[in-house]
Amino acid sequence: LGVPEVPLRDAQRRASRRIQVGPVPVGGGAPVSVQSMTTTRTSDVGATLQQIAELTASGCQIVRVACPTQDDADALATIARKSQIPVIADIHFQPKYVFAAIEAGCAAVRVNPGNIKQFDDRVKEIAQAARDHGTPIRIGVNAGSLDRRLLQKYGKATPEALVESALWEASLFEEHDFRDIKISVKHNDPVVMIEAYRQLAEQCDYPLHLGVTEAGPAFQGTIKSAVAFGALLSRGIGDTIRVSLSAPPAEEVKVGIQILQSLGLRERRLEIVSCPSCGRAQVDVYKLAEEVTAGLEGMEVPLRVAVMGCVVNGPGEAREADLGVASGNGKGQIFVKGEVVKTVPESRIVETLIDEAMKLAARMEQDGVGP
Ligand code: SF4
Repeated sequence: LGVPEVPLRDAQRRASRRIQVGPVPVGGGAPVSVQSMTTTRTSDVGATLQQIAELTASGCQIVRVACPTQDDADALATIARKSQIPVIADIHFQPKYVFAAIEAGCAAVRVNPGNIKQFDDRVKEIAQAARDHGTPIRIGVNAGSLDRRLLQKYGKATPEALVESALWEASLFEEHDFRDIKISVKHNDPVVMIEAYRQLAEQCDYPLHLGVTEAGPAFQGTIKSAVAFGALLSRGIGDTIRVSLSAPPAEEVKVGIQILQSLGLRERRLEIVSCPSCGRAQVDVYKLAEEVTAGLEGMEVPLRVAVMGCVVNGPGEAREADLGVASGNGKGQIFVKGEVVKTVPESRIVETLIDEAMKLAARMEQDGVGP
């Protein structure tokens, strides 16, 4: 899927067992994968596959689909077969859909035992069916639907309650010698969520799926997820991530990829280093940065482009980047690999930068840099 097998900074990754979600390895040092969830009715196979195709194009590696009705369960086989990325069925309440999803060839099944009545009685059969089909299970504990027994014990969804719930549920599977498991312990408060995952990471070696649940609209959700994932991933905790936003799922994927790139867990592709502007700026930095970003969108080679508003920090940053502009007096000095290659009037800065970026990208592609 174009993701390097060895993460760039993997020295500190927590040791965990590895599971396979279809062709995507999760845990055991595998690159941290990015996943999302469809918003269509799963029973609408065409719309769901269309959204999965969009997610795939945006870089999503694993997709989850909700399965609340029999019609949704009936659609799983076609969706799993036609999707280009592994499909996980998300099951609440009904054990019969767990069996349906396994039979349908889903790459994994997410269960929330806090929500599944008679779950304890059915674990043996679920473990058997999952083993027979090589289907891993995600135990997805969620603060909003925590087991009532644990809510009574802890008073609310504390990190300890989330972890106890997850490990108890895992132990039910372990009793049947089933360990093809990954775990999530989601909470909408990053502070609680971080602590829950930290404790869970110490108490088991299952791969962990990170998520801040109900993170909110795009702006707030992006920040909550970046803060929480950053705190955990920088300690080596987390094997696959899902950013939850009240926004189109492709946005979740973009944010997830950007978080991994920012942490050095993914190769950085295009990176725009632009200054925030200040009273010294001699060009409209926001407009310039936006235009350069738009002009270079979709570029696949790792390229750091500096867009700087004046000559104070401008030349220094522009020199550090592969390519850059330091603006001043209505002109822009264009730097390529640390050398000023030309000085152009302000009106030609964007086109010149894009032109030089294309030349650099072509050279890098020739040299085999990039995906
Ligand atoms: Fe201000 Fe210049 Fe720094 Fe931009 S590069 S923030 S304009 S001092």
